[in-house]
Amino acid sequence: MPGRRRCRRLYAEFPAYPGLVEFTPEELEALKLADIEGLTQVEAADKMGVSQPTFHRILREARRKASMAIVGGTSVAVCGEVIRIFTCENCGYTWKEPFKLSIKDVVCPRCGSSILPVTRRRRRGRRGCWK
Ligand SMILES: [Zn+2]
Repeated sequence: MPGRRRCRRLYAEFPAYPGLVEFTPEELEALKLADIEGLTQVEAADKMGVSQPTFHRILREARRKASMAIVGGTSVAVCGEVIRIFTCENCGYTWKEPFKLSIKDVVCPRCGSSILPVTRRRRRGRRGCWK
């Protein structure tokens, strides 16, 4: 039989954060790998090509921003430039392109093939913004 549920004390003066909470693409990736896919920090760090302490730092900041957005009712945006690295399945050529939401139009610059698996993603700089 479950015990009587005790009252919980909340100091519930929720702040409203002005403006936008801006996530970097790697912060979203960290949230996805750790909190949605349930990877360990070591596994997730390995997948992103960073050290575990670096992954921990990215994840902690991402969770802080997510909490601000939820508690403060703030809008969310993703800012930063992401470079995708493609490898052509047909000829093996590898090249980089700026991130686009659709990869339908991407063709191999060497042979013109359009069957292109994404091999890696990498963030560079803080230009560009999509909401
Ligand atoms: Zn090719």
